[in-house]
Amino acid sequence: MIEIKLLKYLRRRLTPKMGSGSCEIDPDQQVARLIAHFCGMKKQWLKYLNQQAPRYTSYPSALRFDDSVDAALYAEKLRAVDLYEPLSIYVHIPFCRQLCWYCGCNMRVENSYDRVRTYVDALLDEIRLVGGAMGGKGRIATVHFGGGTPNMLVADDLACILDAIEREFGLTDDARLAIELDPRLIRKGDVQLLADIGFQRMSIGVQDFDVGVQWKINRVQRFEMVAACVRDMRCAGVDDISFDLLYGLPKQTLHSFRETIDKTISLAPDRVAVFGYAHLPLVIPRQRMICDDDLPDLEMRADLAALADERLVAAGYEQIGFDHYAKPDNALSVAQREDRLHRNFQGYTDDIAKTTIGLGASAIGFVHGAYAQNEKDIGDYQRRIAARSLPIVKGVIRTKRDERCAEIISHLLCKFETDLADIFELTSGAEQTRIRQALEQLEQDGVIRRRDDIVCINERARSLCRVVAASIDPYAHATATFASAV
Ligand code: SF4
Repeated sequence: MIEIKLLKYLRRRLTPKMGSGSCEIDPDQQVARLIAHFCGMKKQWLKYLNQQAPRYTSYPSALRFDDSVDAALYAEKLRAVDLYEPLSIYVHIPFCRQLCWYCGCNMRVENSYDRVRTYVDALLDEIRLVGGAMGGKGRIATVHFGGGTPNMLVADDLACILDAIEREFGLTDDARLAIELDPRLIRKGDVQLLADIGFQRMSIGVQDFDVGVQWKINRVQRFEMVAACVRDMRCAGVDDISFDLLYGLPKQTLHSFRETIDKTISLAPDRVAVFGYAHLPLVIPRQRMICDDDLPDLEMRADLAALADERLVAAGYEQIGFDHYAKPDNALSVAQREDRLHRNFQGYTDDIAKTTIGLGASAIGFVHGAYAQNEKDIGDYQRRIAARSLPIVKGVIRTKRDERCAEIISHLLCKFETDLADIFELTSGAEQTRIRQALEQLEQDGVIRRRDDIVCINERARSLCRVVAASIDPYAHATATFASAV
């Protein structure tokens, strides 16, 4: 962070003011020289800030999904699930009360609960269809309700969905139930009801506590409202509270974000995820409501991420991977220490299940080497369910090479170290040359160090780990529509 601040300061001091005449020395060259002098090689990292990279919540990424996976193939995979195979269930609730302009999720603003109820009926039918295909096999380790806004559903409907899951898949007492919550929709008594149903993990979308920033993203929620939710959760015995924060939002400053982080720390959530806002207005039209000129530049994004990292770590949180933080006694920290951390669609997780069943519009499952995604459009999803068909529209079957790449990249993202021997064995010709050159450059720039085929990401460069992963990923170079890596 110091280097980036210094860069900005120097650029301001050295850039001639408008109308002040010509400058004999190129200010950028001066900046580069001075940065090199003060900061060693860190200036060389600036070029990576804007590099695009997948988020690696699946491998290959969803951009590679096609119609090679359909309902019939998915049903075959479901039938092959083992009797006691741990299962992770993801339930997508695609409704929200209001549109947040930064949102990249599959959601619809919905004011009619009748239409929400119709969707719940379709979900119940889908649970029966999937359960029927699996024939009672598998054992649930986790159930996660995401969205959208799962607390758009009344507690009775959430309980009804869980009952159906229990009937079809055999929900056991040690299964962990998690739910994402919008604090603006939480009324007195709601949290206790959710805890009574069995949710022990609750995640709140905070993003930023600064009201000016909140207006710019169309999501105004007072700090006191979030604080009251957290109090209710603690009173209800919820033992895993998680906050999602976003940096790179319009009008965010170091000062405003510092206050957001400090307010977060004052509420002591068990986990904090700090994501970078991915501004892709050409792909996500609703993001056009956000004015480009209000967005922090790349250097400021890096500053904001570094600020969150410094303050959360100083407050006693452990850094989990590149964008999560957790208290030392939280399950995520324990999983990291015990080498059980991995990534799935929810980001870093301690979930033991390798098999994910996705339920609801746009949900993605992963069963026996195949990713399968449900129809995204809510109406089409409901029609397919009404026709008694699994609503799968696309996916991808992992090849042996994909399996190895996935493991190597997962090690890199979870442990910041990986063995590339297999990558070199699996690639050849121009592809291998490109990977070797990219690694040489990263090593020269001080991002990684290498010992034979073992690659380690240097501690201060961990925020660049998606860049390193993309450099060894054979697919990342074929596609260029990811968000920037920092
Ligand atoms: S509440 Fe979440 S899912 Fe809904 S619009 Fe806002 S960011 Fe998107």
